[in-house]
Amino acid sequence: MRTVKLIEPGKLVVENTNEQFGITDSTVKVQVKACGICGSDLALYNGRRDLSGEHYFGHEFSGVIIDEGKGFNGMKTGMRVASELIKGCGRCWFCRNGLQNYCKSLNDALLPGGFTEETLVTNTDAYSFLTPIPDSLDDVTASIMEPANCAFHVAVKAAVKPGDSVLVFGLGAIGLIAAQILKTLGAGTVIGADRSKLRIEQVRRTGLLDVVDTSDPDWLDQVKEMTAKEGVDIVIEATGAPAVLQDAMTAARTGGRIVVPSVYFGSIDGFEPLPIMRKELTIVGSKGPAPQLKADGTSAVLDKVIQIQDDLRKMITVYDYKDALQAFADARSGAAIKAVIKF
Ligand SMILES: [Zn+2]
Ligand SMILES: [Zn+2]
Repeated sequence: MRTVKLIEPGKLVVENTNEQFGITDSTVKVQVKACGICGSDLALYNGRRDLSGEHYFGHEFSGVIIDEGKGFNGMKTGMRVASELIKGCGRCWFCRNGLQNYCKSLNDALLPGGFTEETLVTNTDAYSFLTPIPDSLDDVTASIMEPANCAFHVAVKAAVKPGDSVLVFGLGAIGLIAAQILKTLGAGTVIGADRSKLRIEQVRRTGLLDVVDTSDPDWLDQVKEMTAKEGVDIVIEATGAPAVLQDAMTAARTGGRIVVPSVYFGSIDGFEPLPIMRKELTIVGSKGPAPQLKADGTSAVLDKVIQIQDDLRKMITVYDYKDALQAFADARSGAAIKAVIKF
């Protein structure tokens, strides 16, 4: 079985093993077609997250079911699927209180995860981490379902109203996908902001967004000119750099809303919290994937991914399995916005 294995932080190997994981009633076996590299995979690689007992390395994948176990949730052999949180366990305190994105079952959803030819995925009456995908979506684009779910969660937290201006700090996959989803939800002017010349250049080349370089001293004036307002209605802070939260508060209009999907490390020197009161800012966090379902119980994210698939493809760099180490290197350096490995 071809697999990309993280032995220890910083030590990634591409190997062919005989390792087999036995199917159980409460799992399905998926033959992985494509798996994207997430920031949290890089955190495991960098040793910023604990690898022991982690069953979430490689959680952005698409593939075909090759063994359905008991076949809960209508999962059948031969079905094309993509990873996405559909149902939390339903029993833990978080699930019972509308916080399924904190369900601990997520930590045990995968064995060994999507960076391999075959993985087991937990699938029970109560828990589901797979969604069927239609033929209109190719394997590589379908692997974006999971980060698109996280971005959809950001868009929900943004509570966008028609015509609202949006500024997205941090043009990684989550920021970019959230920007595209917010456009479909009626946002007016949507602007990206970053300080990486490489990323600004990449995004300008895709034509997905107008981008402001926050290393320009007059970046705020540029934003105000583009939105023709005293500040931005909605700010998404997706950089992971704590100091940018201050810029987000500066850019937001009076009564503005700031959504924070950033995974912050460290603290802010000289942080000025006063604008929270002075401008009556609403600052909301947005953590990871959460079930985003339509009234019929199927994925609302799937509709969005189909709608914006041309935009999504512009963010993706595809790597063959044998070039997996290069894919990780490019994800770390930023050379790839979203690196996806094909098996
Ligand atoms: Zn992810
Ligand atoms: Zn739960």
